[in-house]
Parts: sequence; C-alpha cells; structure tokens
Amino acid sequence: MSKIHQNKCSTFLIVDQSAKLSYVELILDSTTFRQTRDHVTLSSFRLLSELTVANILLSSSLKYKGSVILQIHGKGMVSLAVSECNNAGEFRSIVKENQKNSPKNKNHFYSFKELIEPGGGGLFVASIKPHNELMNIYQGIVQINDRGVDYSLEHYLNKSEQVKSWLRIFINDDIAKGILLQALPRVSSQKKMCDWELLTDGLDQMKTSEIIHNNLDDLLLKKYLNKKLIRTKNFSPIFRCTCQRRKIIASIKQFSESEFLNKRQKRNKLEVMCEYCGTVFLIAPGELDKSFKNYGRN
Ligand SMILES: [Zn+2]
Repeated sequence: MSKIHQNKCSTFLIVDQSAKLSYVELILDSTTFRQTRDHVTLSSFRLLSELTVANILLSSSLKYKGSVILQIHGKGMVSLAVSECNNAGEFRSIVKENQKNSPKNKNHFYSFKELIEPGGGGLFVASIKPHNELMNIYQGIVQINDRGVDYSLEHYLNKSEQVKSWLRIFINDDIAKGILLQALPRVSSQKKMCDWELLTDGLDQMKTSEIIHNNLDDLLLKKYLNKKLIRTKNFSPIFRCTCQRRKIIASIKQFSESEFLNKRQKRNKLEVMCEYCGTVFLIAPGELDKSFKNYGRN
C-alpha cells in the first residue's frame, strides 16, 4: 500500500466559494512517528495517528503562520496524547500510557472513551500558537464524547468555533486519512443550506474501504468534478521536532530547584532526552549558569 501512497495534504476551494475541503493521508510506518508502536497498545497508537491527522487538517486551515496543538490529558489507558503541527505541515506527536492500567492484551480494542476517560475527568484542549509572539495563544476545551477524535473535534468546531464543519478520520494498520469540510462565511446570506447538505451527503456516501484503498485526490476530484475544485494548497506533512538546546536549558532552569542542580553540577553533565524525537542533549553545568546571562539572545 505505501508504494502508491505518500504523506499528503491538499486543500481545495469549492468553485462557488461556499466551502473548502482538505484531506490528509498519513503513512503509518516507522518514519511517521519517532515513537514506535511496539511500546504502546494498538488502540493508543491509533489514537496518536488520529490526533495527528486531525491536527494536520486543522493547522492547514490556519489563516496566519502558527501551530495548532491538540492535547489530551487522559484518565484511562492513555495519560497523555499531544500533537503539534504548524501551517507548513511539520508535526510532532506523542502518546503516553498510564503505567498503572497497563493492559494485558496489546491488541485488544479500546474505545476512545475507554482510552481517555472511562469514568470522566479527561481533558481535551485545542490551542493555536501564532508564529508572531506578540499575538496571544488561543485555547479551547473540546468536549470528549464516545465517538472519537473526529466527532469530538467536529462538535467543537461547530458549537464552540461556530464554523460549520464536517470532519472524519479513517484508519487501518498502514494508513490514516482525514477529510475536513468547512463552510466559508458568505458575503450575502442568500445561499441555501442544501449546498452544504449536498456536499456532506456526498462525503457520507464514500465507504471507508473506498477511502482507505484509493488515492483521495482521485476519489475527491472524481466525486466533486461537477463542483469544480480549485486546489489552493498541496504539501507533504512531515515529522519535524522543534526541540532546541536553549529551550531545554530554559525549562531545566524553570522547573528544577537550584539545590538539585548543585548536587548534580558537581559531577556530571545533565542528560535530557526529548520525548518527541529521542534526541539526547548533554547539558554541561556551565551552560546552566551561562544561559542566565545569554538567555533571550540565542
Ligand atoms: Zn525533539
């Protein structure tokens, strides 16, 4: 399958400008995430893939340069799932499982609700971090339902963001795909609702197997030929971690008590591993002092 597919994201404008349509295809091989699927249950890995696909879709629709961050703080099998993606399709994602509730059977299927909050208490946050640091970070709480990442986010976009949206994710062991349709604000409110319903009906009719086994570009262009799609964006999403030495040093200084550092400083370099990409940073004691003076310059 991966021979005919590659990571791909495209956005189209429907020619009457009533809506825009984006899709993502993400190959689930070892190069997509740095985290290997062997260390988590299949259900957790699928959650990671779904969250990432949804995130690429959302960040591709950003109107300015910035990143979308989706964070789930879970109370079930999953303790944390994070995905961060910028408008150029560079993403990093990670999923962590609660050590206490580690399951016996790695291939058992757990529902979204079972993974996140079997008894409530999970938190799903969507944030937008503009590239321009003078702009504020925007945060919204996504209501967790039992229908998965796509339905939860769809509900969030419709209810909280007031953007008429249709979002679906399709996944098997090899590939994850997502489609996002969003209505565009209209200058005149003359346009009838049936346009939107026609579009979503068409999308609803596509079978999961059809979507998984075909190239979405072919499928959507064929399906919407009469709608005349205008491609406005086309790129290949890629894992790219944004960890940097100076950020690591800044966070050590922020979160560590000086007594702790003093004990370690006498002997060793600090070894810090980035959880997203596995890069190991060896921080010399001197760097922690020096960075006080230089902080903000590099
Ligand atoms: Zn990293």
